[in-house]
Amino acid sequence: MELVALTAHAYHLRAGANAGLLVQGGRGLLVDTGLDRDAARRILKHTAGLGVELAAVIVTHAHADHFGGAGEIHRRTGAVVWAPPLEAAIVENPLLEPLYLFAGAQPTAELRGKFILAQPCPVGGLLDPGPMAIAGFELEIIPMPGHAHNQMIVGWPAEGVCFAADAFFPPEVLDKHGIPFYVDVDQALASLEALARLPYRLFAQGHGDAYTAEALPEAVAVNAQRIRRVRELTLAALERPCTDAEALAYVADALGLAIVQPAIYYLARTTVHACLNSLRQAGQAELALEGNRLLWRSLA
Ligand SMILES: [Zn+2]
Repeated sequence: MELVALTAHAYHLRAGANAGLLVQGGRGLLVDTGLDRDAARRILKHTAGLGVELAAVIVTHAHADHFGGAGEIHRRTGAVVWAPPLEAAIVENPLLEPLYLFAGAQPTAELRGKFILAQPCPVGGLLDPGPMAIAGFELEIIPMPGHAHNQMIVGWPAEGVCFAADAFFPPEVLDKHGIPFYVDVDQALASLEALARLPYRLFAQGHGDAYTAEALPEAVAVNAQRIRRVRELTLAALERPCTDAEALAYVADALGLAIVQPAIYYLARTTVHACLNSLRQAGQAELALEGNRLLWRSLA
């Protein structure tokens, strides 16, 4: 894990899943915690190196790679953990993540790895959109739903830095995932528009190097294009009425993907479900049962 200074008081802790660190008068506020105990220990090594005492932790959204280290950090430092409503329920009950991916049934072993099933952590406070003072830090809590149901990101106006979590992904991360994870593609597109209008100088997101305000619009456009492409391909799949699984195979084939891990399959399936519901709400698709198969068909 690499410590990158963004400004005099704001840091990006760069790893597979990044964290953000705000420092003020020897006290620190952490935004997201990395994947697991190891990530937590590396973060605490950096805070110790800076002579910073962690006062609070904000979890932006309840995906294991963003809050898996929270329990360890809370246990070692006593820092209060804050999370958005709904996401907080998952941080405290991490089984909910594999549970929703597996349609509510007891999750299969493939969905119990640490990238999906994190260690639990007690949440001491709920985030509220708008200006919010946490542990003496004057923050702006900004709703960014779409990638997660109630993702909220963190602006620090005093330093001109926005910790943007998974509100957008760098192009290389989009390409790695092919079908990035979304629970609501319409909300995700609206969130991207809102992100592009934020008045910050630096955007330190959950994966990849931070973006300047000048570089952000292009990344936002690439993210919106990918979401629209997956939605269009889902619609194209429905020209011949098909099941959700067939629609997913169509989209993955069209994007030239080879999904080899069941966990990745289930993540992609959620994105296709998000597209199916978006199409249905827009009057472009309908669903009907036929011979015990739930078939989606295009109305476009
Ligand atoms: Zn995420």
